[in-house]
Amino acid sequence: MVIAVASGKGGTGKTTVAVSLAIAAGTECSEKPLLLDCDVEEPNSGLFLDIDYTSGRDTGVQVPEVDFEKCTYCGRCSEVCVWHAIAVAGKKVLVFRDLCHGCGSCGLVCPEGAISDTVHVTGRIEGGTDGSVNFARGVLNVGQAMAVPVISSLLNEYLPQPEGSTVIIDSSPGTSCPVVEAVGRSDYVILVTEPTPFGLHDLKAAVDVVVDQLHIPAGVIINRDGIGNKDVEMYCHAENLPILAKIPMDRRIAEMLSEGIPLLTGLPEYRELFLDILSAVREEVEQ
Ligand code: SF4
Ligand code: SF4
Repeated sequence: MVIAVASGKGGTGKTTVAVSLAIAAGTECSEKPLLLDCDVEEPNSGLFLDIDYTSGRDTGVQVPEVDFEKCTYCGRCSEVCVWHAIAVAGKKVLVFRDLCHGCGSCGLVCPEGAISDTVHVTGRIEGGTDGSVNFARGVLNVGQAMAVPVISSLLNEYLPQPEGSTVIIDSSPGTSCPVVEAVGRSDYVILVTEPTPFGLHDLKAAVDVVVDQLHIPAGVIINRDGIGNKDVEMYCHAENLPILAKIPMDRRIAEMLSEGIPLLTGLPEYRELFLDILSAVREEVEQ
């Protein structure tokens, strides 16, 4: 079962939920759960675990390389590239590697077979374990703009897992391409929000992407329950979105997290809540 944890906005507690679910699953499953940190621009879930990294490799985008012995400067490659990542100017072909999405279209249309691929390194994939949770993350290199290829490499390397295993994905916040890539192979998405007007606004955007467009079943965790108002709950009821849990506004949680202590280590009384979330999601997936 692959469970993605997402949120329409940053700072809602998405990583806290993802790490807590992985730790809870580690205490109840015979097989170690796998936590995949797909928030590649800011992969911080590993900070709450004591990870011993045992693997790592560079990853990136397949960008075109032009053989000028063969090129006739016909311009077909430039015409087909919707990203404007390759341009033909007189007797020059310019490749803008940071704009290239690695789609391969330019190579396909080149009539001279003058285009081959080369890897433009944009990030790394790293994996390890903390003893009870297996962990892997993608890390986008500083200065790189495209998170999707790194997320895609991470997921290709670690999915699918054997039947019966539990995989938790910590996706990036928001509703843009990296989130679509991170949650797209999940059986279920947990949307973490807070009971405020901002939380509701961004929850609606996340539901639009995850439920209405990707058609992935989803449920909601309301974090910092007790602040704000009841509008998020009313929205969930109206949209038939299950509220999987409410995590109270508890100052001790912020204190634990500020010290890098995982929630379930610092406040073990929350363990049952996360085990209940896991069994509720399993029931939803198996329906
Ligand atoms: S399509 Fe091929 S031959 Fe034409 S300009 Fe591009 S690389 Fe050169
Ligand atoms: S691989 Fe795709 S995105 Fe990159 S230059 Fe070629 S056509 Fe453009």
